[in-house]
Amino acid sequence: MGVHQVADVVISDVSKRFGTVTALAPSDLTIADGEFVAIVGPSGCGKSTLLRLIAGLEEPSTGRISIDGRDVTHAAPADRGLAMVFQSYALYPHLTVAENIAFPLRVARTPRAEVTKRVADVAETLGLTAFLSRRPKALSGGQRQRVSIARAIVREPKVLLLDEPLSNLDVDLRVRMRHEFARLHAQLAATMIYVTHDQVEAMTLANRIVVMNAGRIEQVGAPLALYDTPATLAVARAIGSPRMNLLAGTIATDGPGGAGVRLTTGETVPVRVQGEAGEPVTLGIRPEHLVPDDDGPLAGKVELFERLGPLSFAHLGSPGLGTTIVAQLPGDRHITLGQTLRFRGLSQRLHVFGEDGHARVTG
Ligand code: ATP
Repeated sequence: MGVHQVADVVISDVSKRFGTVTALAPSDLTIADGEFVAIVGPSGCGKSTLLRLIAGLEEPSTGRISIDGRDVTHAAPADRGLAMVFQSYALYPHLTVAENIAFPLRVARTPRAEVTKRVADVAETLGLTAFLSRRPKALSGGQRQRVSIARAIVREPKVLLLDEPLSNLDVDLRVRMRHEFARLHAQLAATMIYVTHDQVEAMTLANRIVVMNAGRIEQVGAPLALYDTPATLAVARAIGSPRMNLLAGTIATDGPGGAGVRLTTGETVPVRVQGEAGEPVTLGIRPEHLVPDDDGPLAGKVELFERLGPLSFAHLGSPGLGTTIVAQLPGDRHITLGQTLRFRGLSQRLHVFGEDGHARVTG
């Protein structure tokens, strides 16, 4: 028997169909008390549906949901002990910031003195004290988003659900709000479930990331575990920016170039992987694991070169590979467009996926 743990949000065999569309196939997920979980995946994969099921905004087609040990499968959203922040702030335009934040407390008939104190505390936490008497239209996007977060946390929810809360903000504000979420999570000790398209938000904020694809949970794990060992092609595509290079090939056991993955160019990338000779596979190499090497098996012509300062990305066209490859290079590396570059892959960092999309053990 394992150690007993308070599992705050438990999803068992939960699915959701809309008519003939399966938005979520039967899924299991356990989110521990106080955890920060990010949900990522391509558009339409079911992220919002999963969040809305937890919130009680959708009724599951099958399965059960419990929060803090209590079955809430059929409970109303207001009875689940959670709060939700959406990408549209949905503030009341005719109410001041203080009145907006106080709204959920008023609905719950909280005594006036306590309302005043709680609003002041939350405003302080989110840096809104100076704006309490303003109306939403007199605030910046970031300030409005902070008010909507303040309103969500003023009742001290056990679970805070966030659906792309930063997607309406400009880059600077996103970075500032990202830091604020990290601080807020540490301060509130609430369980936070965060849907995002943003790699950096997911990687830096989450204790664990849930990768979804086509209505299914593909893999759940710590950010670096998913980055280092994606279990499927969908996870390899979802984690890492720029994306992992994915090259079609076949398993070569012997012959010219030795054992490894033979690419469509005829070159072989050495890697130890189980399988039959000739079996179709996909070789995965992250841009940062391509090493310049004049004798390397991967070559391409520089079509685009992005200098970011500390590092650069070269986009290389290689007709024989049927795809562009992206390589990370040092920031000071001199490159000319049209130049041919050769690379080898860092042998310990190669990924091989079978035709079923599942990762093979490499060595
Ligand atoms: P995005 O990143 O684009 O917001 P998502 O991963 O959040 O996408 P969902 O909004 O959960 O995806 O949608 C999952 C699937 O369910 C999609 O195919 C969507 O069209 C479908 N879907 C969602 N809500 C409904 C609905 N109310 N009626 C019918 N189909 C729906």
